[in-house]
Amino acid sequence: MDIDIKYETMHACPVCGSKNTKFLFTNTDRMHGIPGEFGLNQCKDCNAFYLSPRPRPKSLAMYYPDDYPSHQTPDWESSGFLRDLREVLRHTVLYELYHYKNYKDKPRIKPSIIGKIMAYIVFPFWWRARCSIPKSIFPHYIHDGKALDIGCGTGSFLLILKKLGFEATGIEPSEKAGSIGRKNVGLDIKTGNLLEHKFPNNYFNLITMNHVLEHVHNPVEVLLEVKRILHPDGMITIRTPNMDSFGYKRFGKNWVPIDTPRHLIIYSRQSIAELAGKTGLKLERFTMSHAINVLYRSLEYQMRDKEGNNKDFGFTDRYTIFQKLLINALDLYERMLILSGKDAGEELQAVLTK
Ligand SMILES: [Zn+2]
Repeated sequence: MDIDIKYETMHACPVCGSKNTKFLFTNTDRMHGIPGEFGLNQCKDCNAFYLSPRPRPKSLAMYYPDDYPSHQTPDWESSGFLRDLREVLRHTVLYELYHYKNYKDKPRIKPSIIGKIMAYIVFPFWWRARCSIPKSIFPHYIHDGKALDIGCGTGSFLLILKKLGFEATGIEPSEKAGSIGRKNVGLDIKTGNLLEHKFPNNYFNLITMNHVLEHVHNPVEVLLEVKRILHPDGMITIRTPNMDSFGYKRFGKNWVPIDTPRHLIIYSRQSIAELAGKTGLKLERFTMSHAINVLYRSLEYQMRDKEGNNKDFGFTDRYTIFQKLLINALDLYERMLILSGKDAGEELQAVLTK
C-alpha cells in the first residue's frame, strides 16, 4: 500500500502538558494492517497513555477503512412477539423505576402497582431496559431534553437516545457512516467535527461521547467546547478504554484497545480527573465495567505475537474450549477486582457536569 503519512511528535502530554513521560514501545496498525509505525508513551504525572509520533489529523482518516466496525450498518430492529414483549417490559421499567414520564401512554404493564412489582421482578433485565447503558451513566428523564452524541458513527446509540425521548443530534466525521443513519432511520446526524459546528451556548441537556475521547487529538479543546454548549444543569457521559485495566496488565502491548493509530490517547481515572480539572468540569462519577470480548481478542493478538505472525490482522473470533475456559476465568477474576474497588475494568465511564 502506497500511502504518505504525515506524522507529528508530541513534546508534552496532550492531557496535562507534562514533559515527564516514559516511552513504552513502538506499535503498528494490528486491526487493519495499514502501514505506519507509532510510539506509545506514558505520562508519569497524569497517567495518560498517548501516541507519539502519531498521525496528523489529516492523515488519520485513512486509518478508518470502509470496513471499520462502527461504520457498518447496524441491525436496527428485529420484530415479532418476543420483541413486543421485551418492549412492554422495557417501557414498564423505564416508567416505573427510571421515571421516564414520556412512557406513560406507551404499552406497559398496568396498573402502576403491578407494573412496579413486575419491574422489580425482572431485575436481571434492567440493563436491557436501560438499552445496555451502564447504570452510572444512564440519563435521567428530561422533559423536551436535547441530546448530542459526539462521534455517533451510523447512529445506533443516537437511535437509543431518540427512543428514550430526547431530541437527539449526532455529529460524525465520516460522511459515509453518518449517511447510513440519516437514510435508514431518519436520524439527525451532522457531518464534521464538533469544533466546526457552532452549536449555541448552554444548549444540550445531555452530551455523550462513547469511545470517542481516545480518538481525538485535542481532548482539552474538545471538552472546553462541550462545556460551552452544555446546559448548566446538563451532564456529559464518557465511555473509553481504561489503561489501568486488568486486561492491559495481563496482555500488555497485545491488549486490543491500544488500537494504534486510531487510539491517540488512552485514559485512566487519574487522567480523566486531570482532564476535568483542566477544563473546569466536575467529575461527578467514575465507574468501570468488564468486557470479556476485549480479553478474547487480546488473547488472539497475543497468540499471533508469540507465533511471530505479522501477516494476519483483525480477529477470527475462533477460540478453543481451553481458551474459552481461560478467558472466562480471567473475566471472573476481573469482575472480582472491580467489586473489591480496584480500577480493573476494561472500560471506564465518567459523568461530568459544569
Ligand atoms: Zn499527563
